[in-house]
Amino acid sequence: MSEATQIVAIDGPAGAGKSSSARTVAEKLGFAFLDTGAMYRAATWWALHQHVDLEDPEALVESTRRMELQMEDTPKGTRVLVNGHDVSDAIRTPEVTRVIFRLDQNSAVRRQLVELQRRFGERQPTVAEGRDIGTVVFPKAKCKVFLDASIEERAQRRARQLEEKGAKVDLEQLRAEIHERDEKTRNRADSPLRPAEDAVILDTTNLTFDAVVDEIVRLAREKL
Ligand code: C5P
Repeated sequence: MSEATQIVAIDGPAGAGKSSSARTVAEKLGFAFLDTGAMYRAATWWALHQHVDLEDPEALVESTRRMELQMEDTPKGTRVLVNGHDVSDAIRTPEVTRVIFRLDQNSAVRRQLVELQRRFGERQPTVAEGRDIGTVVFPKAKCKVFLDASIEERAQRRARQLEEKGAKVDLEQLRAEIHERDEKTRNRADSPLRPAEDAVILDTTNLTFDAVVDEIVRLAREKL
């Protein structure tokens, strides 16, 4: 990464509000927005669509290599196309979320996606969000934020999002799922979820959305 590249790196666990706040921060700064979770989701959808054996790591690497991924920012969110299929909604289904660990724990799959993420960030000033942005993808980024919130609060935020879409929600089950995903991402061997040493940790449990956005924009202006 060249010294001149302007990157805001946002990491944190599931449900900490990374996507929505990162998108708004990008708008306010006039930067591009990169949702790296959508890339792991797209690769997972593609593997399922191709009926790849999820227990065969080599086959997952090969299917990811054959994936043609396009991501476009729209006012309604990131539009994701995989080999011509619009999978913007399909990548968010529980079916994908349940098996995504097969790909996000595969080092060779991660290398391919990290390469795409770096190329994206080198082309334009970018706000990137994920789990390993400040530690692995852009370790030289000058502005790194780690967003956290209590598991109770994260489960409630997810429940509200799902309810807005008309889904029925079991809060206990949602909490258990978030906990399980946290454990998997924090304990994996490659790129475990953790704040970079130079990241600012922001606990959003008692903060409003606007307060979170304002704080990240303030940090970005101060550090970049
Ligand atoms: O952020 P989102 O929930 O869409 O991410 C989906 C999954 O992709 C996460 O559970 C995480 O395990 C994985 N991921 C990752 N590294 C990233 C972004 C997401 O391993 N940079």
